[in-house]
Parts: sequence; structure tokens; C-alpha cells
Amino acid sequence: MNVYPLVMTPSFRHGSETPWGGHALKDLFGKNTPDDITGESLEVSALPGHESRVANGEHAGKTLRDLFPVWGKALTGLNQGDFPLLLKILDTRQPLSVQVHPDDSYALSHEGKPGKSEAWYILDAAPGAQLVYGIDTHGESLRSVLDGGLLESSLCRREVHTGDVFYIPAGTIHALGSGIRCYEIQQASDITYRLWDWGRTGKDGKPRALHIEQALSVSQTGTVPPKAGHTEELPGGRRTLLVSDPHFQLYAYDLSGSLSLPAGKMQFLTATAKGCTLCWEDHRESLLPWQSAVIPAGLPEIAVEGSGRILVSSPA
Ligand SMILES: [Zn+2]
Repeated sequence: MNVYPLVMTPSFRHGSETPWGGHALKDLFGKNTPDDITGESLEVSALPGHESRVANGEHAGKTLRDLFPVWGKALTGLNQGDFPLLLKILDTRQPLSVQVHPDDSYALSHEGKPGKSEAWYILDAAPGAQLVYGIDTHGESLRSVLDGGLLESSLCRREVHTGDVFYIPAGTIHALGSGIRCYEIQQASDITYRLWDWGRTGKDGKPRALHIEQALSVSQTGTVPPKAGHTEELPGGRRTLLVSDPHFQLYAYDLSGSLSLPAGKMQFLTATAKGCTLCWEDHRESLLPWQSAVIPAGLPEIAVEGSGRILVSSPA
């Protein structure tokens, strides 16, 4: 068995699935989007129906799920069978609903699947773009804030700029605002409890369903304190730990030559505007700007060459 870095072709969520989406995935990031309204490029995904596919080498055209029986633990480095993480790039032309995700213990007991923590790295933002990050209920219960019609005015809003990082542990009330292009790493779960949809109605004239009781059960009030990333100088560049969650880590690497990545765990590598080159054994593979690759856990050595920033996520 010969494992190698998998350059991925994304799957997309578009049209009526993401009515809030725009066309920046195509215009800014060169994605081959199927629709003028495309909200999500699922860069590394084993979600049934939204699977990204291998673009290179002997397994071209296969999904990550197809590779489980072939590569086994050499792919994820993990014993359990499910693919643990999901990596997306999003484009919001309109704000998303105010939502919250449960943690593993609530999700497993109520939904029979894992919960979701996530993190955002802002790739690009319109001037003045904002997002919702936490809620300040001034000591009141969330239920009384909701009942009093004070939810919108209690949400904590933050203006965002390229390079900003937000860690959203399960239980954090959050919403991306309009005009934001972001990288999102998350637990591979689809459980979302919608708390508020800005009073909007869908094409059928009806509001989208809210999940108030579930959201009240899992929401934490207050904001998450920002943490400064720790930067290390390495041969060929430097790396900064941006987010460390019990389920995943997110690093930024700033390349200035050839830099070796740690071996022994699965990593998702996403090139930014300058692209980069992956080097292993006697092979080289170019990663175009904004392309993502999966480095399998069983690959003994991997180096990255280039001069820009790359983003690297991995299971913790
Ligand atoms: Zn979310």
C-alpha cells in the first residue's frame, strides 16, 4: 500500500441549499462552482451526498470513504471508522441564521451522533463586515432574553478582517454576517440548532424552522476569550497555533523555503493566494491557490515549498 497526499476536488452546497451564498468562491478562489449562488465549497468532506473527491494519483475520482477499506488507519490515524473532520470555504452574500451546536455528550444522547465545535479563519471580508460571536444576557437567563424579544440586541457582534480567527466551541451562539469569505474547520457533524433567522421567510413565504428548546439546552451565555496564537520559528518558515480544540487543531504556516510538516497524523493543507508545492519521497505535486490536500497519517515524511501562508488542520 502506497499512501500519498490527496489533492481534493470539492463538493458544493449551492442554490436553494444555501440561499445566503454568493459568487466569490468562483470569483476570488477560482472554484468550479455549479451555480451563481454557492455558499459552501466542501474541500475535505466525507459527508454522504457532499463528498469531496481525490483529484490526483491512482485513487483519482474516489471519495475518502472509498479509501477507508484500502488505506485503513494509514488515512486518518484513528481507530474508529468515521471520518472525524470537515473542511469548508464559505461565501456569505447574506447573513446566516443565529445558531448553536451541541457538544458530544448532548448530541450523542439526543441525536445519536457527535456534536460540533468549529473554527473560522477569515480569508476576505467586505469593509465593515460583522459576525455574531456569543451573547451577553447581562446575567438574565437566555430564555428570559428570548421571551422579552431582546435576543437581537443581546448578540455580541464583531467586525472582521482578513486573517482574523474565531474559535467556536460547542454551545457558542454564532452567525456569519454578510460579505464574509472564510475557512471553516469543524467536527464532521451536521447538527445545528437555529435560534433566530432575522425574521426572514423562505421562498414559500414561511419562516425556516427554529429549534428553540434544543438551543436553550445547549447554549452557553457569555463570550469566548480570544487566545493569542503561539508562533514557532522553523527551518523554512514559521508556524502559529491558531486554535486548539479537543477534536482538532488549526495552524497557519508562513513559508519561506522548504518546510517539513510533522508526520504521523492526518493533516488537511490549504494553499492561500500563492499556492505551494508538496514534496515527498521523490515526488512533487503543486497545490494551486486555494486548493486543499489531505496528508495521510501513514505518510512518513512531507515537506511544503513556497513563499506564502498555508492553513493546516488536523485531528487533535
Ligand atoms: Zn456553526
